[in-house]
Amino acid sequence: LARNPGEPEFHQAVREVVDSLKSVVARRPEYLEVFERLCEPERQIIFRVPWVDDAGRVRINRGFRVQYNSALGPYKGGLRFHPSVNLGIVKFLGFEQIFKNALTGMPIGGGKGGADFDPRGRSDAEVMRFCQSFMMELANHIGQYTDVPAGDIGVGGREIGYLFGQYRRITNAYESGVLTGKGLTWGGSRARTEATGYGAVLFAAEMLRTRGEDLDGRRVSVSGSGNVAIYAIEKAQQLGAHVVTFSDSSGYVVDQAGVDLALLQDVKERQRGRVADYVARRPGARLVTDGSVWSVPCDVALPCATQNELDAVAAVRLIKGGVRAVAEGANMPCTPHAVEEFRDAGVLFGPGKAANAGGVATSALEMQQNASRDSWSFEYTVERLTDVMTRIHANCLETAEEFGDPGNYVLGANIAGFTRVADAMLAQGVI
Ligand code: NDP
Repeated sequence: LARNPGEPEFHQAVREVVDSLKSVVARRPEYLEVFERLCEPERQIIFRVPWVDDAGRVRINRGFRVQYNSALGPYKGGLRFHPSVNLGIVKFLGFEQIFKNALTGMPIGGGKGGADFDPRGRSDAEVMRFCQSFMMELANHIGQYTDVPAGDIGVGGREIGYLFGQYRRITNAYESGVLTGKGLTWGGSRARTEATGYGAVLFAAEMLRTRGEDLDGRRVSVSGSGNVAIYAIEKAQQLGAHVVTFSDSSGYVVDQAGVDLALLQDVKERQRGRVADYVARRPGARLVTDGSVWSVPCDVALPCATQNELDAVAAVRLIKGGVRAVAEGANMPCTPHAVEEFRDAGVLFGPGKAANAGGVATSALEMQQNASRDSWSFEYTVERLTDVMTRIHANCLETAEEFGDPGNYVLGANIAGFTRVADAMLAQGVI
């Protein structure tokens, strides 16, 4: 870790996996060398992104793509546009992505990218110019057999559209499989928009099932109000849950009557508004701007905003409030101390690399549809997603049991993901 100074999120992600691998390395010592190799990305690209704002001023941002590991398939992972993006954040996300993608059982390697660009408050024209400039460089490094980016924080359908348009223009080829998360009329997969949120809830339901419980009638707290949060709320409500919170960086909303999803979608997806705009139109809903969404008692917590948003203090509050299960819709939203608290209290805990793998799994289904020039129905795609989530859950559970810690999904996910990649790396030689 001394080789990577100033990258605390990356260190945190590596440490968590190392802790899980002790028992597997004791059985297979050759895995130690593979793990050291795996910590070093295969390629890291950092580039300047110049663009012109609506006032005619030249702006400069920094773009990243970390092509982490391609032992199982082309690099695959999202692009994040957020002012907090730096190399350490992209590396932590790319590192997690390797294991997540391995857990899906699909032929995809791990990568991640993005820029320290903040799309909030920018006009469509500014976002388009930024995306076009970003793609001018990124196009040199991606391709359907090389590296297939998707969305993440700040990168949704609008941004993927601008990126794809520019890629087509640069390459003069209709290479559908180069990006996922595309619009439905130009190569996108049905259910990709819903997949991450749906998958996280399906994972939570599977965890509860091991204790003979389900989501029906349960109080659910969600953080975030973006793509993952919205579709986690939708699936939880479909399964009979009563969802009472969501949030953004300005605060959290408590809606004891149950979140009005149609209103939330209107505010976020059509108006590109803030959570305060929901409260203004929803009698009885309350906006809290100081404090944590995790102070609201619930049976099931679904952190769907960003890394390290749920710390030990929040975990203890949730435990006191009677939380039964936590499934990470976001990447690494719970701090290591929070995870320890949940484990000690016997709370079911689904780590992001397992619980939020539904998004990338459906991206891989999008790649399959692009390769065969096919387009599947929503129902069939959700069936495939459900099958993937059920298998990931079973794999984590069985692996944790095999390595002597039943019910430890963190251990199960890390070992199951790692061994699939490590075996492929060993078979392919020192490269
Ligand atoms: P969006 O940009 O659609 O939404 C992000 C949400 O999180 C917004 O409500 C945003 O609020 C909030 N948020 C972001 N940063 C912060 C912060 N620092 N403090 C408080 N709130 C914050 O992103 P997604 O829903 O796509 O992604 C959410 C999480 O899920 C991320 O961790 C991402 O890596 C992960 N993920 C996403 C997948 C996908 O398919 N999209 C797949 C797997 C994981 P605000 O608008 O105020 O910034």
